[in-house]
Amino acid sequence: MRRKIAAGNWKMNGLTTAVEEAKAIADHPNGNVTTLLCPPATLLAQIAQLSLATGGQDCHTADKGAHTGDISAAQLADAGAAYTLTGHSERRTDHGEDDATINAKSAAAYAANLTAIICIGETLDVREAGDTLTLIDTQLAGSVPDTATATNTVIAYEPVWAIGTGKVPTTDQIAEVHAHIRTHLAARFTDGADFSILYGGSVKASNAAEIFAIPDVDGALVGGASLKADDFTPIIDSLAQS
Ligand code: PEP
Repeated sequence: MRRKIAAGNWKMNGLTTAVEEAKAIADHPNGNVTTLLCPPATLLAQIAQLSLATGGQDCHTADKGAHTGDISAAQLADAGAAYTLTGHSERRTDHGEDDATINAKSAAAYAANLTAIICIGETLDVREAGDTLTLIDTQLAGSVPDTATATNTVIAYEPVWAIGTGKVPTTDQIAEVHAHIRTHLAARFTDGADFSILYGGSVKASNAAEIFAIPDVDGALVGGASLKADDFTPIIDSLAQS
């Protein structure tokens, strides 16, 4: 049974005043949807007290040690998280993370009993060169540990050119990539049919229903439109109704 997940990635946004938005999101009825917020680490323990799921935005490959400024999966779990993102394109770009690093981070998440939401997706150059599906295979093969299961792993397909830009792929483009991811997972994992696959990239209330109607789209990873309850809760509603 695949989980329907509405995940909000707050990135480096949110002061303590933002906890009020998280409260409004947590209090919103979510039906059969897992509502998940990945706030900045400074707010995680506070938001984890609310009635919603929480996650980190990244974790280190080690469970502790001399890594100034980093956070471990064990620390995320200790703060109340059940999930963590790994391999978000902003980590890949800003911090030079490659598939091997993301694989190790995802394995560290499993060791702390977190579900890893492993992010993959092509740049505009790759799409225009016609290499999207090849890249998706490379990222899945490299980033997803052999120990992945439908319980400890969620895949988020996020075309880099759609993140924070207002540009959204066509429904056919999303359907093609999600079907490809499903085929890849089904070929590699015995429970590959059960992994949740999220779409991410400029999801908002006005396009959510159309995206959630696409086969093999089990939810969304949402950046900008997850910061305010008024923007995020209609997305949760659309997913619940899909
Ligand atoms: C993201 O940060 O993962 C994301 C999809 O951002 P946005 O929804 O703002 O495009």
